[in-house]
Amino acid sequence: MRILIVEDEPRMLELLRQGLYEHGFTVMTASDGETGLAMATAHELDAMVLDIGLPRLDGYALLRALRASERRTPVLMLTARDTEDEIIHGLDGGADDYLTKPFSFPELVARLQSITRPRREKADCAIRAGDVVVDPVRRTVWRNGESISLTRLELLLLTCLARQAGQCVSRQTLIEFIWGAEHAVGPGALDVLVNSLRAKIDAPGGQKRVGTVRGRGYIFRSAAGAEKNA
Ligand code: CA
Repeated sequence: MRILIVEDEPRMLELLRQGLYEHGFTVMTASDGETGLAMATAHELDAMVLDIGLPRLDGYALLRALRASERRTPVLMLTARDTEDEIIHGLDGGADDYLTKPFSFPELVARLQSITRPRREKADCAIRAGDVVVDPVRRTVWRNGESISLTRLELLLLTCLARQAGQCVSRQTLIEFIWGAEHAVGPGALDVLVNSLRAKIDAPGGQKRVGTVRGRGYIFRSAAGAEKNA
């Protein structure tokens, strides 16, 4: 899960970043409201942890601007004081939940999981792309009714490609989806993974599912005949 933390207090930001990273989240950070809004608009996020008192744009204003841009990213607000006004103001502005400082990490993680659950369940439905069916939840893949066994990373790659079947998915998007933005992987890692997926997903002598878009990324082809441009 990819989380954006917007917090201006350096020690609190570092504490949150480290703690969420250790809990398996992919973490992005911003220390002022304007940068936070720009990042929240530019990236597909699973959730956002938002401080209220921020320089350049406060948490309420950021949230209003985000909701005005139709972004439904779940937002957990951090409030310094447990005052009813502040909480009501935040929830009215489109926050999904709030947490009062100081808080415990298990509580923070539980709240984040709770606000992201409806989205995850929706996102995790089986994906159908031609005769290939991918179910990221049950971790099963079928081609032409035949079950195919994939590794965890191959499954992530196929999920990302199949969700956008017919469109080129950039190398950067794939790398971040599979390994997370925090993890540096060598440039060859993605190509190695693509080749191992191809070896499993392509029927011998059949159509190539995963096409290379030179210099840009990869594309999942579900329609017959589309491989002419490979
Ligand atoms: Ca603050």
